Amino acid sequence: MPPNDHVIKWLDNLLKERISPLVNLHFCNSSNSWLITTHQNTNKIAIRLIPSLYQVGYNYNFPCCNLDISSIDSEKSLASTYLPAPGLISPIQILADSTTSYLLINYDVIGCIFWTITRCEEVNVPLIYLDKHGRFPAVSSHAWRNGYLQRPIADEWILILRKLVKHLFPAVSLIQKTFSITPSHDVDSPSAFCFSSPTGFIFQLLYRIIKYNDFRSLYRGPIIRNFSKNNLHVNDPFNTFSTLMDLSEDAHLKSVFYFMGGASDRNFDPGYPIFSPIIINLLKDIDARGHIIGIHPSYLSSLDSDILNKELTLLRNACFHADVKQTVNACRMHFLRFQWPHLISNLSGLNISSDSSLGYADQIGFRAGTSHDYLLFNPLTNQASTIREYPLLVMDTSLFGKKYMNLNIANALHSVNNILNQCRLVSGNFTVLFHNCSFSKKEVFRLYASMIELSKI
Ligand SMILES: [Zn+2]
Repeated sequence: MPPNDHVIKWLDNLLKERISPLVNLHFCNSSNSWLITTHQNTNKIAIRLIPSLYQVGYNYNFPCCNLDISSIDSEKSLASTYLPAPGLISPIQILADSTTSYLLINYDVIGCIFWTITRCEEVNVPLIYLDKHGRFPAVSSHAWRNGYLQRPIADEWILILRKLVKHLFPAVSLIQKTFSITPSHDVDSPSAFCFSSPTGFIFQLLYRIIKYNDFRSLYRGPIIRNFSKNNLHVNDPFNTFSTLMDLSEDAHLKSVFYFMGGASDRNFDPGYPIFSPIIINLLKDIDARGHIIGIHPSYLSSLDSDILNKELTLLRNACFHADVKQTVNACRMHFLRFQWPHLISNLSGLNISSDSSLGYADQIGFRAGTSHDYLLFNPLTNQASTIREYPLLVMDTSLFGKKYMNLNIANALHSVNNILNQCRLVSGNFTVLFHNCSFSKKEVFRLYASMIELSKI
């Protein structure tokens, strides 16, 4: 079946955003191929369709080949001369046939971009491929099994298309993007000692002593818990907000702080009183310094839009009390827990304009095959959304979590640099998440600071 009008329109818009507003994408039913044209001349780029790239649903055996792109990318602008080609059963000898006015690409680059970015493989995933939180883990993904999770393959194929467009339509000026960094911080626990139960308080004290040899917490903890009335205590180990904002401001960046509006599951949501003077003053400070406040919906909200709506309303009301000027309309799901594509309908109708949940908890990398932001598309209902996705590439707990990558600092630095470099090659946006409560080790702070520093280069 040929792609429907909604798919064509969404893809046409994506190419206009990423290549040039002057390119037009059509589908030609008679030749069963895509056509890229412009008004500049009558030249055409045709792309052969692979129908399986438009089918939704998990397929453990979905094929993949590596294609030699050296004939197109002679400047070697990508990390490798081979690019993964999902959906392709066997390698093709000639990727592109061309005359002076016509070029035929023998792999469905458009389908690859669609399949990867709209997460077709994450629809209706059998339970055995989900983790204990019901999340789709990296290790179940096609990208992981075929060794390309740490490459932004949709961006790379778009880069190849840009070269071909420039070749066939030389007068068309291409959209120019520059590498950028978006620092973000999920505020699961704003304070180490203030908001927990008495048992949780004792647990936190013991945890800090055992894990960090932090014996000072024995006397600091009770002081911080009892004497933090209107503001977070300066010695609270989770009070890293000002330092994080300082770092971002030095690099002319805006941090995004995702706050929880409530707790729905005692086991997974720490919970804190969003209307307490401490949080109100924190929201006020973040807003006054020009950083962004978003919603971090709790564990069970991923399946229940009523919970999500309630938490969002509470956070927005707290911001109103704090005299915050900005509107809270950015979202990242707590635990990166969501069902795809239910996430889109869950966020719809709540005046949410952006989401940054599309990253894996168990691995860093390019879950959506791209580092660039894009309008979400529901591959099940074939509806385009007005919500813009900022895919998450690196999370602190993915790097250091014992059940995840479990890296030491040196290996974490190496892995992060690899993702950063991949982003640079495609002039992408490096969205990184470090929790405010993750900086008890100085080396972690140094690693984070070195990443932010790179945005100045
Ligand atoms: Zn969280």
